[in-house]
Amino acid sequence: MKITIHGGAREIGGSCIGVQTEDCKVALDYGTKFEESSHNQFPEDFDAVIISHAHLDHSGQLLSLSKKKPVIVGSKITREVTVALLKDMVKVQSQNDYNYPYFKHNADAIKEHWWVRDYVALPGMTIKLHPAGHVAGARMISIHSEDKEVLYTGDFCVHDSEILKGCNTKTLPKKPDAIIVESTYGGKVRSPRNELVDQFFRHMLATMDRKGNVLIPTFAFHRSQEMAKRIDDAMKNGVLPRYNVYTISNLANKITDYFNQNKECFTKMIQQQKQPFKYNHVQHLYRTSQIEEPAVVICTSGFGHAGASLSLLKDWAEDENNSVLLTSGYLPPDSPLKSAKEERKFRNNGGMISVKAEIEQIELSGHADQLELIQMVKKLKPKRTILVHGDIEQAKALSEKIEKITEVWIPEKGETIAM
Ligand SMILES: [Zn+2]
Repeated sequence: MKITIHGGAREIGGSCIGVQTEDCKVALDYGTKFEESSHNQFPEDFDAVIISHAHLDHSGQLLSLSKKKPVIVGSKITREVTVALLKDMVKVQSQNDYNYPYFKHNADAIKEHWWVRDYVALPGMTIKLHPAGHVAGARMISIHSEDKEVLYTGDFCVHDSEILKGCNTKTLPKKPDAIIVESTYGGKVRSPRNELVDQFFRHMLATMDRKGNVLIPTFAFHRSQEMAKRIDDAMKNGVLPRYNVYTISNLANKITDYFNQNKECFTKMIQQQKQPFKYNHVQHLYRTSQIEEPAVVICTSGFGHAGASLSLLKDWAEDENNSVLLTSGYLPPDSPLKSAKEERKFRNNGGMISVKAEIEQIELSGHADQLELIQMVKKLKPKRTILVHGDIEQAKALSEKIEKITEVWIPEKGETIAM
């Protein structure tokens, strides 16, 4: 068996891992990079492509396979959301580039070839999918072939969140020959989730006290619904006062409908509610001009590259009463939010906007932190651990903590590891 890291080596974005045996060649994930300018070229001759979850850095390159039509495998919610995200990508990209080679029917072709399965048998190879936490429908992928067992974690979360259970390590293969693990937070230990949620509410309350606006840039998928649910419940329970709260993203709104129709992905408490993602205190708007200030706005894009989050950042950055709450630990180098946070200014149509609003990063992330990653390695006892999906500093920091328990690889892009 040979494992080739086609993308997501020593970086976050563009995840794709090839697993090749005598009889079979599969890809684990097929993602795009976060930087708008960069593009991936992955091999296309796979017998099957297994998608761990619907974030585009794991699934966004699938359109390039719409003519080859390999079997695609993943959970139902991953299929529904991936196809919706791909269609949105086609809409946005074709507005910017008349020569953009894909159309919405290419996304439909992906859906037609998608098998919703948790178990697949291919020539000489069996593949199992295991719940991974992280986002709705996310799976880890284990492969058994040629007497070797390999587990790819994809992005995963060990602890429960408000709406989703963490992964169940008990069902994962023990003492595998290799695990391919994300290292997003390989060097970071996070505060417990309840403390981070308290911190988040404290910042919101402080901004509400001074009648300011709160901008919460998020992904349309999962983080948007989780955030709206968190704020809706806090207002219902009196943790937060009544305030104008809006979501602005038609895509997020569509995904919220999928969530209401596919409650089985979520915690028991969510499943017991009739329409768990129908909010009482959070209103969906179609455009920023409908906002009645002061307000809390949950909107896309998550990194402030475009959409309502960029336009509100421009409108609200210069007022010190406003705040921006970032819940992702990672910001791509070219994102306006990164320079707004670190340099207190960002580029706008050739000029610069200076930032007086408070910008806080509270990492309510769905990734395992360093302690959880170490725990995972200790529990599974793999012969080899291959670190992907993390900057080199994060991967090295994790490597130092686990190299006594397991053989550690931090492969470069394109590197092949023979098992
Ligand atoms: Zn992810």
